[in-house]
Amino acid sequence: MSDRLRLANEAGLRPGVFLDRDGVINQVVYRDGQAVSPRSLPEFVWTAGIQAAVNQIKLAALPVFVVTNQPDIARHKMEAAVLEQMTALIYQTLPIDDLRVCPHDNGDRCSCRKPHPGMLVELATQWNIDLSRSFIVGDSWKDMQAGKQAGCQTILIQRDYNQGTEADFGVPDVLSAANLILELV
Ligand SMILES: [Mg+2]
Ligand SMILES: [Zn+2]
Repeated sequence: MSDRLRLANEAGLRPGVFLDRDGVINQVVYRDGQAVSPRSLPEFVWTAGIQAAVNQIKLAALPVFVVTNQPDIARHKMEAAVLEQMTALIYQTLPIDDLRVCPHDNGDRCSCRKPHPGMLVELATQWNIDLSRSFIVGDSWKDMQAGKQAGCQTILIQRDYNQGTEADFGVPDVLSAANLILELV
């Protein structure tokens, strides 16, 4: 065991799994040919296998967190109340431990909007997570970059809209991501 890992274990730190929301938890919506976020509850549709994927990760005693950029709030394209309803639906349906939203846009210069690692770092502090043994699953270069900056292993859900995105691993769907995490952890 490395010194780093031994020290982390002694400090009570544990690995965790960070999931992006749109394209991972729920399906992206295609608007004018662009893959974008749902803006209403009818547009919010689960991805195939997400319930089983999160259940598997939780059965392995790994905490699961959702970290999501929602710039449509700052852009006044979606009401905060609708976002809150989607968040409530996620908590009701999936055994996640915590969820963080960045409601800002680029011009706000916040530290939470992915590719910044702020949401991951904050969750890690709050939940005693060893980021170097943790994973992020996403469908965008911003997820991969946020995870990399936080020191996590990065897993890309491969889609036609994210070809060429750099990641430690590429998988076809969320169940494959869960299986990979259980092999690697
Ligand atoms: Mg996404
Ligand atoms: Zn932010």
